[in-house]
Amino acid sequence: MTDIDTQNLTPAMRQYMHFKSQYPEAVLLFRMGDFYETFYDDAQVCARVLGIALTSRNSKSDNPIPLAGIPYHALDNYLGKLVRAGHKVAICEQVEDPAQAKGIVKRDVVRLITPGTLTEDSLLEESKGNYLAALCLGNKTDLNAPAGLAWIELSTGAFYAQVMERRFVLDELARVRPAECLVSDDLDADQRKFTHEIRDLAGCVLTHRPGWGFDTHQGHETLKKHFGVASLEGFGFTKPDLSLAAAGVILDYLTETQKVALDHIGTLRKVGRETFLQLDQATLRSLEVERTIRDGSIHGSLLGALDQTRTSMGARKLRLWVCYPLCQLEPIQKRQDAVAELVQMDALRDQLRDALKEITDIERIATRISTGRAVPRDLLGLHQALSQIPRLRDILKECASPMLTQLTERCDPMEKLTQLIDSAISPEAGLSIRDGGIIRTGYHAEIDRLRNLSQDGQAWLASYQKKLIEETGINMLKVGFNRVFGYYVEVSHLHSEKLPPGFVRKQTLKNAERYITDELKRYESEALTAEQRCKDLEEQLFNEVRREAAGHTLRLQQVAEAVATVDVLAGLAHIARHRNYCRPEIHHERDMDIREGRHPVLDVSLGSQFVPNDVALGRTSGDLAVITGPNMAGKSTYIRQTALLALMAHMGSYIPARSAHIGLVDRIFTRVGASDELTRGQSTFMVEMIETANIVNNATDRSLVILDEVGRGTSTYDGLSLAWAITEHIATRIRCRTLFATHYHEITELADLLDNVKNYNVSVREWKDEVVFLHKIIEGRTDKSYGIHVARLAGIPREVIRRANEILDELESNFSREAHTRRIGGKLEKHRNEDGQMLLFDLSPPDPILDKLRTVDLNNLTPMQAINLLHEIKKELENR
Ligand code: ADP
Repeated sequence: MTDIDTQNLTPAMRQYMHFKSQYPEAVLLFRMGDFYETFYDDAQVCARVLGIALTSRNSKSDNPIPLAGIPYHALDNYLGKLVRAGHKVAICEQVEDPAQAKGIVKRDVVRLITPGTLTEDSLLEESKGNYLAALCLGNKTDLNAPAGLAWIELSTGAFYAQVMERRFVLDELARVRPAECLVSDDLDADQRKFTHEIRDLAGCVLTHRPGWGFDTHQGHETLKKHFGVASLEGFGFTKPDLSLAAAGVILDYLTETQKVALDHIGTLRKVGRETFLQLDQATLRSLEVERTIRDGSIHGSLLGALDQTRTSMGARKLRLWVCYPLCQLEPIQKRQDAVAELVQMDALRDQLRDALKEITDIERIATRISTGRAVPRDLLGLHQALSQIPRLRDILKECASPMLTQLTERCDPMEKLTQLIDSAISPEAGLSIRDGGIIRTGYHAEIDRLRNLSQDGQAWLASYQKKLIEETGINMLKVGFNRVFGYYVEVSHLHSEKLPPGFVRKQTLKNAERYITDELKRYESEALTAEQRCKDLEEQLFNEVRREAAGHTLRLQQVAEAVATVDVLAGLAHIARHRNYCRPEIHHERDMDIREGRHPVLDVSLGSQFVPNDVALGRTSGDLAVITGPNMAGKSTYIRQTALLALMAHMGSYIPARSAHIGLVDRIFTRVGASDELTRGQSTFMVEMIETANIVNNATDRSLVILDEVGRGTSTYDGLSLAWAITEHIATRIRCRTLFATHYHEITELADLLDNVKNYNVSVREWKDEVVFLHKIIEGRTDKSYGIHVARLAGIPREVIRRANEILDELESNFSREAHTRRIGGKLEKHRNEDGQMLLFDLSPPDPILDKLRTVDLNNLTPMQAINLLHEIKKELENR
């Protein structure tokens, strides 16, 4: 912040400076009456981000203070904009009634809002979890050293921790995609660089926390205290580890920022790498698992194609299932059985989905209730959701699969709570706790009385008037109200004499006198304050109901979890039935056999125009398939499709195919196309090689590898050599199921030399001068690339195309493809190095100089002979 002379500040500004110094990283919203004001640099930020006017305080003085303010009732709207722009916001409220304040109003920061700690619906995306992560790097710096990662979805309370080798951290964060990540402020240069990669990769805000807080023992203690347990063994943590340090840092941070009880965080889940199919960051991105590469939207991604959920809880859970497929047979089959049952029962599934449609976000409402941030409408939403649970349970009772039976049991309708909300909260209640109208008539006698008092005032006055007329016999007596003088009894001068004692004169008019009675005075004091008292009591009663509901948070979370799971299963069954998917048979063998498989996203967009294809990979059919064919023929689609189908099968989903047998996969690796890594300062080729190195170093015989062009980013010979060596290594050493789409026809030679390599190509029909892509994958190699044809389709000018064809003819006649192939075949057998590996074929014609050098016997060469040899070589070179 710019240098500020605090001496000359007003008391309010000094108070502001006091809080600002406590939250230097945040934009401080300082409540002043009906506005939240921001000053100095914060005002500049707000003016820019929120598009509001930048003015100044003390504008006439020498040191005007930049100022920008927002009306208090529009807070949510502006908060959203600030947080989305990556800012943290500290809210400083008036914590005493300004009317009662002696001197300056007491204020306090009641909450620090950061991108990773949102709970308000208005600030959150419905179908996406909003995660806060913490990373604890150990002392060792190598990539195999352990690191601790924890992450939480504050709006639902879902809390996870995992220890992993440092090299897997970025992959895991790419899956979690936190909005904010907590890291130590005490990192060395290498660790800092690593945390910056996190920021760039996940697009999250980094928040630095004191280094001493990242401590395993301390984290362990914080967690035990929070959960009220003597040991964390019940959560699966047998001894303190780095992930507990990270989880502890998260809890400390939440305590500091939220300033409310965190009871809704009821458990910490240990995430094991062995439970889930591993997808690294490159794979998640290039397979467009949960968002597209082009614009990052869900539309066009696998998740987008699969999402038929009816609740936001289901949508969030589906995202988890897509990013965290399973990798063990039993849990996969359990899900498949549940989907299968719902696929078969059309009517039941439709009823289920109808019931689900009515269910609001129990999970997030439960959190707001627990943290004291629920508004009346939240309780109504909860009531509406819970009233659907008996219906849901009745429908589910028809199901027999173990998973659905278990879920049925967890659908607890929580009748008592539902009844309480129903009887207490008015169906018309809105968003505000303070505006009254929250409590239902008949719930509380005093509320009804106070309401009658203020609402039925006219009726009371009429009946009081009637009573007085009877008592005094003055027919012209009137009871009325006036803003200035309040309630009165009015009689004409003529009748004033007749009034009995007890009528005190209040006001004399031209023709009449106005009086007040004790009874009217009592009524006046009640009626005038009734509205406010009613609102206060309503707030108090609402808070009681909320507290009662908060006592059920963990049960509510269980119901929410069950509903979300049912929603995902029903959605998967719905799409399986409507898009004609099949149940893949998952097994322990290392094979994969998919008949008439379709790409799950293109299957939706292209419909019947999509050409289905078979895949056969593994022990019996060959581990590695080399797929050649012209550009635009459908190679990438085919290999991605295979990876996506394998991924879906591991989620427990049905897949778009006629039939499928898929052996369990431990990781899916992809090396596909160029990406936007250039912005991270790496060349496309470097990225390609990093991704390939990752595959070669980490793939096991259980992995599925998808390679789309390797070695394209460098010169032809370099690239071809690398592609050859890498393919050979995968086929002979790793022996995992691999699909390799390539332009290098030469690679197809590998199939002649290695038993487990097979060639496939995408069939093309040439007709007159046209090329028709049939998109059908067939066995065998291809010997043409049709690149010039594609260039023509892309709009390269006709004369350039003509010239390219001429050059191609020339090249082909000089270097006939057939002769070339025969020579390669002949040479290959002869060129093996000591390891028995094949050496790459020699594409250049034999060179007499090199031959001469090869045959020279250096041990028997005199210096004179050596000089003569050099002369000869030089001369020969000059003659070329
Ligand atoms: P390549 O990798 O061979 O260059 P792509 O896989 O990118 O080709 O496919 C090019 C286009 O062909 C795709 O955008 C898609 O529209 C279409 N395509 C690919 N495979 C199929 C298929 N099996 N059926 C129908 N159209 C397909």
